[in-house]
Amino acid sequence: MSALKDNIQPILRNILPTQFKVEKPSERLANCANCSMCPPKSGANPHEQYFSPNTKCCTLYPILPNFAVGAILEDSTIPNQTRQEFERAIREKTAYPHGLFPTRDYILDFDARKIEAFGKDESLKCPYYISDGGLCGIFPHWNSTCSTYHCRYEAGKDGKALWDASREYLVDAENALAKYCLRKLGFSDTVINSKDADHQLTVLAAAQPEPLSHSDSWGNWAGNELDLYKKCAAIVQALSATELDGIMGKNGQERQADLDAAISQFTHPKIPDLLIKDPSLEIEWEDSALSSATLHARSPIRVPAIVVSIIELFDGKRTTLDVISAAKNQLNANLDPDFITYLYRHNVLSDSDVTR
Ligand code: SF4
Ligand code: SF4
Repeated sequence: MSALKDNIQPILRNILPTQFKVEKPSERLANCANCSMCPPKSGANPHEQYFSPNTKCCTLYPILPNFAVGAILEDSTIPNQTRQEFERAIREKTAYPHGLFPTRDYILDFDARKIEAFGKDESLKCPYYISDGGLCGIFPHWNSTCSTYHCRYEAGKDGKALWDASREYLVDAENALAKYCLRKLGFSDTVINSKDADHQLTVLAAAQPEPLSHSDSWGNWAGNELDLYKKCAAIVQALSATELDGIMGKNGQERQADLDAAISQFTHPKIPDLLIKDPSLEIEWEDSALSSATLHARSPIRVPAIVVSIIELFDGKRTTLDVISAAKNQLNANLDPDFITYLYRHNVLSDSDVTR
């Protein structure tokens, strides 16, 4: 069995809380070797939005906390391209003791264009993306975002919620650990609090003036930046799970509670009693005989025509049990409750209370 923690950067795997020991969703719908979001060789479907084969989903500059940069530097299998990007950031003074961040221009550009440009625009391509083969130049040391992102989820919204809750925990862990390392190495509070390895804060931070110069940030470490990152890796490497709990404090406990809830919904899904056809669902008939259709929900789902008739029975007034009974009486169909869960998880059916 592969556990959730097996997706996470090796330096953290053995100190993560027990939630990360749950079985990892297999996510076979996200086939990175033959990218599920790139146009298929058999021809593009005009209803679908595709990513570029030149970028796949790697159109972001990932924030790498100091200890992760150090762990990457200690890995002899990492390609030169990755090390060159680290050296470039230091040379151009865009590296921080907290880790490596996208430049302010990149953050603002990404934020303004992410909806239309994500997965398509090569100007946003990750510097660690290896164009020859479409591989990741920092794997398996990827950060909270890259280790938890999937373009498609086998368990639909419940799978996404599980990975999202994992990411939220990891973002906070990365931020807390990066600062912990600096504190252990004697950095002042002024430097420590000048930067957050927190993905939500970076857009706001990018609009502010830089609080400290490169030399003020780095102090005596200026000129030996890569050594500092390696020191940080050694500090995190020596930590225990209990120590990580202490470093993260109450915030860590709250993130773990969110993860518990996401794991519970993933393993024992609960669905609302009154469901409706999702208002944004598009139905594309496959043939003139109307015998099969593709449901364009979050991902396309090919179904026989009777499923379209069943979906129409969910009117927000009948309970799920009433719909099962109506399907039997009106359509002579035996409706499996697991199939209803599947339709709900994949945004074909929605909570009738949700206002859009
Ligand atoms: S996660 Fe990214 S690389 Fe993998 S299949 Fe999806 S879009 Fe392609
Ligand atoms: S770090 Fe790797 S997985 Fe993440 S965006 Fe870059 S190339 Fe893609």
